[in-house]
Amino acid sequence: MDLGISNRVALVAAASRGIGKAIALRLAREGARVAICARDHEELHKTAQEIQNTTKTEVLALVADVTRPDQIKSLIAQTLARFHQIDILVTNAGGPSIGKFFDFDDAAWESAFQLTFLSVVRLCREAIPQMQQRRWGRIINIASTTVKQPIENLILSNALRLAVVGLAKSLANELAPYGITVNTVCPGMIRTQRLEQLLHVSAQMQQISFDEVLKQRTAQIPLGRLGTPEELADLVAFLASENARYLTGTVIQVDGGLVKGIF
Ligand code: NAD
Repeated sequence: MDLGISNRVALVAAASRGIGKAIALRLAREGARVAICARDHEELHKTAQEIQNTTKTEVLALVADVTRPDQIKSLIAQTLARFHQIDILVTNAGGPSIGKFFDFDDAAWESAFQLTFLSVVRLCREAIPQMQQRRWGRIINIASTTVKQPIENLILSNALRLAVVGLAKSLANELAPYGITVNTVCPGMIRTQRLEQLLHVSAQMQQISFDEVLKQRTAQIPLGRLGTPEELADLVAFLASENARYLTGTVIQVDGGLVKGIF
């Protein structure tokens, strides 16, 4: 299927590895010009080079921390200076810390709020005006299945990602007249560095091996295995496409059936 985005520009935040990287690669394979950011210069530039070599598409790598408003402003400004437009915005970020309610003081809640929620607000604020002018846009937030079913030991994600969904649904309504869609994609258990870190913590807490934890977790997934970043990127690419023009305000999990509720 031709996704019709070969003349589009995508900005994928937090994309030096894992889910963000897979999304940037997938969009570049569709012919979109892509800008990516992360905090670590070396890993980021290695990833940009890899995507460029694989797809022969132009990739702009910009060091930026999405918790810093000044760096988000500069990220958007530099992307626009190079490509003159941002059609597809993927608001990915690192995951908030692992823990339960009494593990976190106000400072920890505030920094998780900056990372998980305000980064999305700020990226949208900077990118939307030029989408409105051109009357086309795709905003895709990367959240978590925690918005459908809380996960033990991830209270920051359980609480703060729901704010992202509320924001996305509101923005979907506000931006619909401009041809801009806003959707949220929720990874279940997707094999990345972040997930492996979570599984290691769980193994330590239960005093069992990593492989035992992996077995326990995959047993909860009807499709019987972890997902790959590429499987999640397939959905994001579809949501970014011309074909998804009538989809907005949705919250879709990519989780092999992990979430047991209906909505
Ligand atoms: P990851 O740790 O493998 O990759 C995170 C990426 O974000 C890296 O490129 C890192 O450099 C970048 N990053 C981190 N903090 C940043 C910051 N402040 N500014 C800019 N870049 C930053 O994680 P992942 O598994 O790819 O997860 C991506 C998102 O999806 C996270 O928010 C995570 O919590 C969420 N998620 C992942 C899973 C999963 O199973 N992997 C499940 C649910 C939710």
